Amino acid sequence: MNIILLGPPGAGKGTQAQRLVDRHGMRQLSTGDMLRGAIKAGTPVGLEAKAVMERGELVSDAIVSALIGDELDAMGPDTGAIFDGYPRTAAQADSLDELLAARGRKLDHVIELEVDEDALVERIVGRFTCATCGKGYHDRFDPPKVEGTCDKCGGHEFKRRPDDNEETVRTRMAEYRAKTAPILPGYEARGLVARVDGMADIEAVSAAIEAIVAP
Ligand code: ADP
Ligand code: ADP
Ligand code: ZN
Repeated sequence: MNIILLGPPGAGKGTQAQRLVDRHGMRQLSTGDMLRGAIKAGTPVGLEAKAVMERGELVSDAIVSALIGDELDAMGPDTGAIFDGYPRTAAQADSLDELLAARGRKLDHVIELEVDEDALVERIVGRFTCATCGKGYHDRFDPPKVEGTCDKCGGHEFKRRPDDNEETVRTRMAEYRAKTAPILPGYEARGLVARVDGMADIEAVSAAIEAIVAP
């Protein structure tokens, strides 16, 4: 199974992708995570992406599609893929079709997380992750069960993203509206889109997604 999780920054894509990984052994392909990894490793891609990401703008289509192609090649053919934060433009959507077709894969679902824009800033500024295992949390909506300790790995170090501030979030939302939302009608015409209420609590969103991927 190959699915796209689509929604603006803070919609819950990463949170739900992690849950799908845990439940179904699928693989999360997050271009944001890949780009942050490239920045940390100091690769040429990372050097090019860093300033763009700090401004909240989109990294070039060629870079992110190449990252996705490499990740797909590193996966077993039977492992399902969850595309998280990709595609984000019409050109990326076309590339994804080609990348999948070349590997004998097809898209099963495009799951759109519908959220009120007003809620996104609060979600983004309260977001943090475990520095050891990457599990995502929120100060208010999804704190660790024991304060200061990761539920998943027991780690005590957490980190926040430099682009998770109110100003950058506004740019990222504008990019979503202008460049990403317009790819939805194409998927709709192919009968692939399922909508989920992303304003519901995390468990309820998971249940709604579960009903789509494993009816
Ligand atoms: P995205 O990957 O779409 O940018 P995340 O999954 O990282 O979004 O979620 C953004 C923040 O909001 C995280 O801190 C997460 O814990 C929190 N969050 C995710 N889903 C919900 C939800 N349904 N209700 C409340 N908070 C949520
Ligand atoms: P969020 O889900 O909160 O928007 P991501 O981690 O998906 O954040 O993306 C963070 C940043 O990385 C984006 O603002 C953008 O600069 C860059 N990025 C991630 N994925 C893509 C993509 N598919 N195309 C272009 N830029 C991307
Ligand atoms: Zn952890």
